[in-house]
Amino acid sequence: MSIFSKAQLLYEKSINEKIDESDMDTIIAWPEHELSVLFACADQVRRRFFEETVDPCSLMNIKSGNCSEDCAFCSQSAHNHASVQIRELAKSEEIKAQANKAFQHHLPFCVVSSGRRLSTDEIRNICNTLKECPGEKHASLGILDENEFQMLKDAGVVCYNHNIETSRSYFHRIVTTHTWDERVETVKRAKKVGLHVCCGGILGMGETWKERKEFCQQIRDLDIDTVPLNFLNAIPGTRLDAPVESPLEFLKAVSLFRLVMPRRTIKICGGRELHLGPLQGLLFFAGANGYVSGGYLTTSGAGVDKDDVLIGTLGLRKRLG
Ligand code: SF4
Repeated sequence: MSIFSKAQLLYEKSINEKIDESDMDTIIAWPEHELSVLFACADQVRRRFFEETVDPCSLMNIKSGNCSEDCAFCSQSAHNHASVQIRELAKSEEIKAQANKAFQHHLPFCVVSSGRRLSTDEIRNICNTLKECPGEKHASLGILDENEFQMLKDAGVVCYNHNIETSRSYFHRIVTTHTWDERVETVKRAKKVGLHVCCGGILGMGETWKERKEFCQQIRDLDIDTVPLNFLNAIPGTRLDAPVESPLEFLKAVSLFRLVMPRRTIKICGGRELHLGPLQGLLFFAGANGYVSGGYLTTSGAGVDKDDVLIGTLGLRKRLG
């Protein structure tokens, strides 16, 4: 079968949400010199369901560092030795100022905290603040119970982020202080109260394509609304080496996730500037339809203005624009 016929078949199966394990193997084995054909296929699937619309968001790290958990990639873990600012919960006025900025740039605003979870009192404070913030609000505050998710929902939060980080089989190599299943249960509790869920992870942590495929299938099985994908930024003092993946391999992974989950938002987060550099625009042509804009939790990004220029140049527009 020619490479074009293979791509046509994948397109048909993808739009009908019928990509199976052997199709995933076909995508993974796609020859590097013919990747433009795979990207065109993923791009057409993206356009079919999202047209020219992309879904960015902006993050605010409202509590940073000194985390009890031992995630190998994370500079905020007290088990690692990265130099990171330790900061208690941000004041209400600071959060409202950041939310206003995001609103002016037509960006959903997501409050993110380090640590296994915020306390119930801290969640109550954040909810009171978020009620006074404009625009679309998201949160990522750790392993919460159902009542706490309901508090967030009542405060106007529409989407909760909780990443499973990697496949179930590889997770123990990355985190030992909590389990993959605990993360999945948290995702299910957030869904139960009717929050949209944003759940993905990090590529380039030493996982094989087999483990990456498993991760992708597990995300699909969780029926997630938004799938954030990061490309590992190996910060000195954390426990992981820099990824060996080429930019094209990361882009192939983006196409894999798009074709497996044609109607879900595939959002590219940390590491896009670092690993893709001038190829960043290709993210959308490889199937992504979302991105974190401005900067990340402990590393900086290109900035909202540059991101706006990038998507404008590509003829894309923000969902809230
Ligand atoms: S990823 Fe979250 S839970 Fe893990 S160490 Fe970093 S801040 Fe803590």
